[in-house]
Amino acid sequence: MSHLSHLEQYEIRDRKLFFAGVDTTGLARQFGTPLWVLSEDLVREKCRRYVGSFARLGVPATVAYAGKAFLTTGFCGLLKNEGMGLDVCSGGELATARAAGFPMDRVIFHGNNKTAEEIEQALDAGVARFVVDNLHELRLLNDLAGRAHRRQAVFFRVTPGVNTHTHSFVQTGHLDTKFGFGIENGAAEDAIRLTASLPNIRLVGLHCHIGSQLFDLSCFRAAVDIVLGFQNRLREFFPAHDWELDLGGGLGIRYTSEDFPPPIELYVETLVQAVRARTTALGLPMPALWIEPGRSVVAPAGLTLYTVGAVKPIPGIRTYVAVDGSMADHPRTALYGAVYSAVLANKADRHPVGTFAVAGKACESGDMIIHQALLADPEPGDLLAVFCTGAYHYSMSSNYNRLRRPAVVGLSGGEARLLVRRETYEDLLRHDLDPYA
Ligand SMILES: *Cc1c(COP(=O)(O)O)cnc(C)c1O
Repeated sequence: MSHLSHLEQYEIRDRKLFFAGVDTTGLARQFGTPLWVLSEDLVREKCRRYVGSFARLGVPATVAYAGKAFLTTGFCGLLKNEGMGLDVCSGGELATARAAGFPMDRVIFHGNNKTAEEIEQALDAGVARFVVDNLHELRLLNDLAGRAHRRQAVFFRVTPGVNTHTHSFVQTGHLDTKFGFGIENGAAEDAIRLTASLPNIRLVGLHCHIGSQLFDLSCFRAAVDIVLGFQNRLREFFPAHDWELDLGGGLGIRYTSEDFPPPIELYVETLVQAVRARTTALGLPMPALWIEPGRSVVAPAGLTLYTVGAVKPIPGIRTYVAVDGSMADHPRTALYGAVYSAVLANKADRHPVGTFAVAGKACESGDMIIHQALLADPEPGDLLAVFCTGAYHYSMSSNYNRLRRPAVVGLSGGEARLLVRRETYEDLLRHDLDPYA
């Protein structure tokens, strides 16, 4: 169907939606709704395309998946098997990686306000790289690494000031940002000079992350030029050999048929060519590269299944279609005005008859799943599949309204197995204490 042509791994068979070879109506019957579904097959394909692209170009690189997009212990196992690295940005993400036995020499630790406790945990775990965000962290890390008898390898997060023409909520490349050291205002240079006096810090390279859901490769090229130009000015502070460069994440995906991101291969080639060209021009050696893709690895592999409840036409205005989930499991529409595609999975062969406002069940007017969904005639009991929910859904979910988080089902080779079980009321009450009892 044309309004679904941008999506991956879907098929219409026997009038029903199949995803990664599995009947979604069967998944709903077996596991209930709302349900997060994740095609492990598609995640593997994305990982292989990333890792394979660097290998074909002969560039040593670590593809450190951004765990904030979606992380569970089982998922860490998949990443490990695919030769991926992992970017964690909290003690909780680190604990997940440790519990899964993820190799720490491929783990990079992010965050703009790492606590002393988190820094100690990461030192203890032996993460490969810290991405240092600010002076407070730099001094704290130097102290704590000293106490742990470690000389910690770090990247400095710098903000090259690239305007990425993306949604302002997810713009992180500007000077006015809580992330990183500014290049333009001298903050990055000051930090690098200070590092020479910190015995327990080993600066191995720079890091930048210019934004998210980006389609325009020229932004990445511009960032490479700015960061390498800066690096060159301060080359006396970096080791001449064995240096590294981390270019962050940010490649976009096709939420709708109007989104046109470049393919993974082209993105990787563009990064590598930009770094090669610039280092050659500056007479710098080629660094080992790190990248940190999140969304582009996992978003298209996710699907959320909901059961349609109340259908409420407001004559002359719109028809609201309420589902059994909410902004608690689908936060990005309320947070960013994000746009999604959907289909009625139990009658996926029917052509859309119009646009519908798909609402959640939370007590909040902003609780919308899709403002204008192109759908066949929705009726109570229908199964609604919302596409591309693999990134920043499970990981950003909440228990608002004391709603239980759905289960996450992984699909691998046509088989379905639970990655996360559905929350129970006991889970919700587990931490409550009652001084009035
Ligand atoms: C969010 C984030 C990523 C991943 O971004 P995507 O757009 O999901 O690829 C990578 N690195 C850093 C530092 C981030 O904050």
